[in-house]
Amino acid sequence: MSLESVRARIAAATRAAGRPEGAVTLVAVSKVQPLERVEAVLDAGQRVFGENRVQEAAGKWPALRERFAGVTLHLIGPLQTNKAKQAVELFDAIQTLDREKLAAKLADAMAATGRTPALFVQVNTGDEAQKAGVAPEAADGFIEACRRDYGLTPAGVMAIPPADADPAPHFRLLREIGARNGLAGLSMGMSGDFEAAIAEGATHVRVGSALFGERDYG
Ligand SMILES: *Cc1c(COP(=O)(O)O)cnc(C)c1O
Repeated sequence: MSLESVRARIAAATRAAGRPEGAVTLVAVSKVQPLERVEAVLDAGQRVFGENRVQEAAGKWPALRERFAGVTLHLIGPLQTNKAKQAVELFDAIQTLDREKLAAKLADAMAATGRTPALFVQVNTGDEAQKAGVAPEAADGFIEACRRDYGLTPAGVMAIPPADADPAPHFRLLREIGARNGLAGLSMGMSGDFEAAIAEGATHVRVGSALFGERDYG
């Protein structure tokens, strides 16, 4: 699907939800995609991208940023503490803050570099053992600790609902967690469900395959 049609679907879903134009940011998830596909989307005007690995992003984005001005990069995959500093240097948003040790490392890295990427707290809305994120019932306490103990100012919350479930209840749960903690950013919705996420209040949708085509992990 073209960038234009994804944008049109986002605009239509935003309107249908009675939300203002531009309320939803498209994060184009470029992980694993061949460079020529990423370049094509950049050529078409997209500037906000998501990557799930620090190493992969470090290998391709510095050169792309020299050619395309105004790129904003979101980290949407799990972050190891030993890569926190590199992530702070490379990314404009880190969506996967989910534990105190990482909060401490990010706070140190932000102080050391003077950079202030937007931070989203990842919530494991489905309580899935294999998935990163704080448990829903631990989210309020964790967000409070980020603010009080580490001096961080989270911008939002992020979730990846279970693959086999209706995502809508997970989107609502995330919205409630964001609202009661005073966090405006809601990163939710992927290729298969971004319209449903927009209906539930998403401010950031993370769209990969619908935009770039299937990922080839071969
Ligand atoms: C890969 C990925 C996406 C994009 O998934 P698609 O289904 O290809 O749109 C979104 N969010 C996260 C966290 C991802 O890892």
